[in-house]
Amino acid sequence: MNDQQHDPGPRITGKTKIMGVIGYPVEHSLSPLMHNAALHHLGLDYVYLPFPIAPDNLERAIACFASIGVVGFNVTIPHKQAIIPLLHELSPIAQAIGAVNTVIRVGEKWVGTNTDVAGFIAPLQNTYNQNWHENKALVIGNGGAARAVVAGCIQLGMTEIHLVGRNIEKLKQFEQSWIDSTLADKFTNKLKIHSWEKLPQLIPQSNLLVNTTPIGMYPNIDESPVTENQLHQLPSHAIAYDLIYNPKPTRFLQLAQAQGAIALDGLEMLVQQGAAALKLWLQQENINVEIPIAKMQQVLTSS
Ligand code: NAP
Repeated sequence: MNDQQHDPGPRITGKTKIMGVIGYPVEHSLSPLMHNAALHHLGLDYVYLPFPIAPDNLERAIACFASIGVVGFNVTIPHKQAIIPLLHELSPIAQAIGAVNTVIRVGEKWVGTNTDVAGFIAPLQNTYNQNWHENKALVIGNGGAARAVVAGCIQLGMTEIHLVGRNIEKLKQFEQSWIDSTLADKFTNKLKIHSWEKLPQLIPQSNLLVNTTPIGMYPNIDESPVTENQLHQLPSHAIAYDLIYNPKPTRFLQLAQAQGAIALDGLEMLVQQGAAALKLWLQQENINVEIPIAKMQQVLTSS
């Protein structure tokens, strides 16, 4: 018996309900693979589809989703902020971060939230039982993912979060957006913004070093945001965390590991943010099941 006979895969019928991910482009997304594996494993009559939606079509696409009964969807580049005015409600965490990666249909409303924060924190909490408030974080980059990382560091209780970026204007806007955010009282005096040149001075005091830039991502696999020499200064037992999941590990993580750091790649974050989103959609459908995280990990690592 071949694999196909053994496991026929999802059976789409007239009753199958739809979930998905919107992005532009979206072809590279691993979310359909991961979510469909989970839905199939759970035996649920749902399918998760990739929707390439150009920015000009975003509003029409969301209206169409409502009319065909889409249960919920993920949001990726370039729509994470642009979608906000098209939603009826935002969760407090999405409001604070100013970005949405998960949308849920609640009655006649679209409700936006952000599971990247939960996704970022989960591998840290699952693996390392640390007194996070005694640790200092250094975040490299100031894009959308960096916003979730800063919020995650605050949620972990870290008292100092340093962030470096290459563009001073964007760094100032990043800092101001937190001052204006609903989390302002939580982060006051904790977040410190620096120009890229300060990186070497900040590394020796960082217990958690997070790359949120695409430097080192496939196909530029020989690049690293931090040099080997700079990493010599990383404290022993520091955690080096790269949000990139292709390649796995990145050059940055290889170099950090060679210095004795604990290395975390972006795959676990991808799985955990996806699991958190799936749980929200299914709960809204009154389906309370344990999300098969191991299955989601397995399908990604064997893909
Ligand atoms: P983004 O909003 O475009 O932000 C990218 C950031 O990296 C910006 O601050 C940008 O600087 C900086 N950057 C880009 N190229 C750089 C370079 N050559 N030198 C210095 N800085 C550079 O993208 P994002 O959504 O935050 O995603 C960033 C990365 O995280 C991607 O690799 C993405 O795949 C990954 N990610 C992973 C997960 C996961 O679940 N594992 C989730 C989200 C994102 P400027 O602001 O100056 O342009």
